[in-house]
Amino acid sequence: MQGKIIKGIAGFYYVHVEGFGIYECKAKGIFRNRGIKPLVGDDVEMDVLDEEKKLGNIADILERHNVLVRPAVANVDQAVVVFAIKEPEPNLNLLDRFIISMKQQGVPVVICFNKVDRSTETDCRRLQEIYEKSGCRILFTSVKEQSGMDSIENAVRGKTTVFAGPSGVGKSSLLNVLMPEAHSKTGIISEKIKRGKHTTRHSEIFNLENNTYIMDTPGFSSMSVLDCEKEELKDYYEEFLYYAGECRFKGCIHINEPGCAVKEALENNEIPRERYDNYIHLYNELKEIRKY
Ligand code: GDP
Ligand code: ZN
Repeated sequence: MQGKIIKGIAGFYYVHVEGFGIYECKAKGIFRNRGIKPLVGDDVEMDVLDEEKKLGNIADILERHNVLVRPAVANVDQAVVVFAIKEPEPNLNLLDRFIISMKQQGVPVVICFNKVDRSTETDCRRLQEIYEKSGCRILFTSVKEQSGMDSIENAVRGKTTVFAGPSGVGKSSLLNVLMPEAHSKTGIISEKIKRGKHTTRHSEIFNLENNTYIMDTPGFSSMSVLDCEKEELKDYYEEFLYYAGECRFKGCIHINEPGCAVKEALENNEIPRERYDNYIHLYNELKEIRKY
């Protein structure tokens, strides 16, 4: 039978099989023979050892589309990053870091701007304009007023989605709407981590409905550590790519070069100032790091 690993604890893997439920499995064989360690999110071929007790053995791991390192999870279709429009004000530099690190790993990003009820239409339009050419899908929600809930439900349906976001933005509230049962559990885990107790940190994804899986990530900053060459950074700003072909110099990094089409587009307000400024900020940061 084919299923998906939703949790791994101390050598046991919990495999969810559509229509059959969850099996507690060992991974005898694969480990030894192929040296591959099963990961949460892995699609696997499983032999049922005992249907009544729901025991099985993982016989094979199907080819992975991708693997995120932090959190360790395979086959992620997309990341939803939640920010509040107000309270707290969105840190767009942090958002850009997150987008870049997901792009590097080949994971599409959906930006969910929450707390629409606390903001004006102008605030929303501004954020929309900054990110509309970034290659990310943009959603606006208010958990408080239950608006935009259908858009987030549609976005996750049929996919494996990792949720991230800084604290206070309403991510827990949102997940609570999407998966009320699972959520009380994640709540307990993150509470323990907050109190500094030594709980084994394990990744876990929750099955919502057919082929829909969700993973919550407690730490945000660890997911947005930039690790790229400064010359590569420009390639992750999708709005630059429309113009970069017109730059006078091949390999233009759009900072001080003459005849730069990206800077020209910036002057013509075709590239959002905020995105460009963040690019410069991150570029300089990478330059500092790579000096040593
Ligand atoms: P998390 O830290 O991102 O998980 O945020 P929480 O879900 O704990 O929410 C932080 C605070 O924001 C709580 O007081 C929530 O009640 C509140 N909150 C969540 N969503 C909304 C929303 O859409 N509008 C408003 N006004 N408050 C919200
Ligand atoms: Zn240029």
